[in-house]
Amino acid sequence: MVQIQELKNFIGGKWVASETDKYEEVTNPATKEVIARVPLSTKTDVDYAVEVAQAAFEKWKNVAVPKRARILFKYQNLVVEHKEELAKIITVENGKNLSEALGEVQRGIENIEFAAGAPSLYMGDSLASIATDVEATNYRYPIGVVAGITPFNFPMMVPCWMFPMAVVLGNSFVLKPSEKTPLLTARLIELFQQAGLPDGVLNMVYGAHDVVNRLGDHPDVKALSFVGSKPVGEYVYKLGSENLKRVQALTGAKNHTIVLKDADLPESVKNIVSAAFGSAGERCMACAVVAVEEEVADAFIAELKKQTAEVTIGNGLEDGIFLGPVISDESKVRTEKYIEIGLNEGAELIRDGRGEGSGDGYFVGPTIFDKVTPEMTIWKDEIFAPVLSIVRVKDLKEGIAIANESEFANGACLFTNNASAVRYFRENIDAGMLGINLGVPAPMAFFPFSGWKSSFFGTLHANGKDSIDFYTRKKVVTARYPKSYI
Ligand code: NAD
Repeated sequence: MVQIQELKNFIGGKWVASETDKYEEVTNPATKEVIARVPLSTKTDVDYAVEVAQAAFEKWKNVAVPKRARILFKYQNLVVEHKEELAKIITVENGKNLSEALGEVQRGIENIEFAAGAPSLYMGDSLASIATDVEATNYRYPIGVVAGITPFNFPMMVPCWMFPMAVVLGNSFVLKPSEKTPLLTARLIELFQQAGLPDGVLNMVYGAHDVVNRLGDHPDVKALSFVGSKPVGEYVYKLGSENLKRVQALTGAKNHTIVLKDADLPESVKNIVSAAFGSAGERCMACAVVAVEEEVADAFIAELKKQTAEVTIGNGLEDGIFLGPVISDESKVRTEKYIEIGLNEGAELIRDGRGEGSGDGYFVGPTIFDKVTPEMTIWKDEIFAPVLSIVRVKDLKEGIAIANESEFANGACLFTNNASAVRYFRENIDAGMLGINLGVPAPMAFFPFSGWKSSFFGTLHANGKDSIDFYTRKKVVTARYPKSYI
């Protein structure tokens, strides 16, 4: 019997009940069991969180940077200590298997480690002589209250792209996690508090669009970090910009992979199976389309079918399970609709995942369409499920030209042993994160998560040096030292 938790917001170092009377049920997608009730908080809840965050900022910004960084070191230790516990929460609320969840926790830890290097990252620069007896120094300062809005698919990694760096740089933070996966964030916040973070520096308000709308127009929120789907990201980008905030919005994707005839086919397929069907295809870096050179297309498909037949489907908490459920019934129904659309538009369904997995959860098995063309809806739309489209191309150039027709440009991969093909791909593909002979080219914390086109709205990406610029503002001091003092 699972105990149903009634979730509370975290404001000023305390768990505080929302003033709302509207709640949503959180379910374990592998079992359909209700595991929590999440409040859909109100404008008043947000105003309170921002007021507390603003007050905390006034003190926190004056805490010496190495002192702030030491809290991050302690936090890193605590998160490492609780790795298994955190991974289990992710599997229960999101559905991805335990080993993928552990991988996600590791990615979050790397962000905390990166942020712990704040004293060197935060340094400005100076020029000792810009004119006779005159020098200039550029200092960095925090910007104030920052808000983060995060999706369901990476409940740990994505919030960790935001609050550790924002906070260590002296900002205070209000996080609005996905209402579909709210539990992990609560534990993450508790651990940060345990590491010694002062009350009010990191706050969390549960909810959906009402919370986002208020964060987007509250005058004391100086910046918005958003990760989620394209329509919502575009909306948040416009809302924040209209209200004169900094905004970074990392959005949807339709990632293309090109397989050339010289590639190691079994190895390429192994990577593609993992990239297309891992985490139930619910990754912004998932492989959604494979363009394969015609000459090896049949051999590629035979290998793909063979390896996909070995995919195990079920509850990700169980040993040996590779493919867990999609997040919700709505998502399962939507995926099945896309499979129908693919069939109606003339693509060849060579593996149908409908009806696979037990009826106890929201399962969809690996689904593969061959002979897909860019005019088809299944080629264009982000399905965000274990559905893979194959496009047959005559060569690399055609593969790139087709991929570049997509409105999205998050990641793209190439499988080949040819160095000039790699260079040609790098120079000509429209995508911000490239993989060579690997399936999921998600950059580590010290590099920017750098989607292009409709996969990103803004200027400074999450992570890497971009994140330091995004969460700080600069002050340049120009000083003259007259010789009369010597
Ligand atoms: P989503 O856009 O539905 O939700 C994201 C956040 O926005 C959630 O916190 C949600 O509560 C809020 N939201 C939803 N509808 C809203 C509305 N009408 N007004 C205001 N706020 C709203 O996304 P999701 O389904 O949780 O996540 C999947 C999406 O996220 C996919 O499109 C995926 O590609 C994308 N994603 C992108 C990246 C990236 O780095 N580019 C990373 C992870 C996920």
